[in-house]
Amino acid sequence: MAEWSNWSGRQTDTPQRVLRPSSEEEIVAAVLGARTDNLVVRAVGASHSHSRVAATSGLLVELDAWQGIEEVDRDARTARLRSGTRIFQLGQPLHEAGLALRNQGDIDKQSIAGAIATGTHGTGPVLQNFSSSVLALRLALGDGEIVECDRDRNRELFEAARHSLGGVGLVTEVTLALRSRYRLHETLWSEHPDEVFGRIDDLIAATRHFEFFWMPQGDFCACKTLAETDAEVDPMPDKKNERIGWSHEIISSVRDVKHTEMEYSVPAHLGPACFLELRKMLLRDFPDLQWPLEYRTLASDDIWISTASHRETVTISAHQDISLDDRPLFEACEKIFRTYEGRPHWGKVHYRSGEELAALYPRYPDWWRVRDEVDPEGRFLTPYLRSLRP
Ligand SMILES: Cc1cc2nc3c(=O)[nH]c(=O)nc-3n(C[C@H](O)[C@H](O)[C@H](O)COP(=O)(O)OP(=O)(O)OC[C@H]3O[C@@H](n4cnc5c(N)ncnc54)[C@H](O)[C@@H]3O)c2cc1C
Repeated sequence: MAEWSNWSGRQTDTPQRVLRPSSEEEIVAAVLGARTDNLVVRAVGASHSHSRVAATSGLLVELDAWQGIEEVDRDARTARLRSGTRIFQLGQPLHEAGLALRNQGDIDKQSIAGAIATGTHGTGPVLQNFSSSVLALRLALGDGEIVECDRDRNRELFEAARHSLGGVGLVTEVTLALRSRYRLHETLWSEHPDEVFGRIDDLIAATRHFEFFWMPQGDFCACKTLAETDAEVDPMPDKKNERIGWSHEIISSVRDVKHTEMEYSVPAHLGPACFLELRKMLLRDFPDLQWPLEYRTLASDDIWISTASHRETVTISAHQDISLDDRPLFEACEKIFRTYEGRPHWGKVHYRSGEELAALYPRYPDWWRVRDEVDPEGRFLTPYLRSLRP
């Protein structure tokens, strides 16, 4: 028996077996072994999810020995990746091929399979989440069969598996759509929320990426824009708040201070009202809160259970210290998110039932139908995942 914990240490479990496969054959053998011994299987990437979506007391498959780029197609702007590959491992080799990821999130520590399983995203009103860049998948099903899927082959499996919550099969390879490499000009500044929301639409439209962290102590927004530029790379040492660099060096930050997090996606046009209500509530009811709210944008997509499914989106995250009970804060925030048609991030804390989630996603029953068809024995159904069943 081994101990597993997520990045923050807030989620723990005791898997009966931990395996670290270094080939697809070993991944299949791991799944078949779990079948023989009736263990529930969970693959983990970087264990950066705040929810229990990566937890298992059965078989834990760690994929750090299954990393790397299998193939890059410069002309088609695609790459085929081993599923345990971390996002930070992609920047330099793709750059050398003249390519880059379309967008990235706040950090680049996640595995590619983990990022797509939960719909991980960055910011930008025309930029979609990682799952939207998936062109094809190769995965081991619960009976050990290896299948490939994309928009033309096994279409329904593709729809469920490109945002899988780890519950459809064990992804061994991911083919991603990329773009030509690009440089970004970063600008940082602080401003009062009234000023920010006085021109929020202009701020969002002005550059490729806009976001802010609202700091409750001091009541100010730490804003950031990233504008695409043809200018040369320039660290601008004379300026504290500007720099120009390649996308993979600029977009993601280092977030070493451990915390726990809730994030909701709301329709883009409701984002400002939702944020302002949260701010009012937090200043009134949580005057000692030390952690920020983060405000980002996310483009609509057509993925069954993506939080941006068929709607332009604003995402708002609340954070709490890991030494504190996060429940009072998150319950108070969730109460407000509910009134703004909020959809919870699949890799972060929430308290929604399967029935409630089904009401938020018209295709939620289809996701479960396909999952059940390809995994009738429930090899990838952890107790947490079962708790999300409608
Ligand atoms: C500091 C920090 C910053 C973050 N920033 C952002 C952000 O900017 N934007 C955002 O959207 N989210 C963000 N997150 C959340 C994070 O991106 C997601 O939770 C993501 O899923 C974590 O990736 P991972 O590799 O750690 O996956 P894990 O947490 O290890 O696993 C997540 C899910 O993926 C499944 N999975 C992993 N590998 C496979 C595989 N090979 N086959 C099938 N299923 C698999 C797991 O079973 C599990 O269900 C952040 C989290 C932290 C801690």
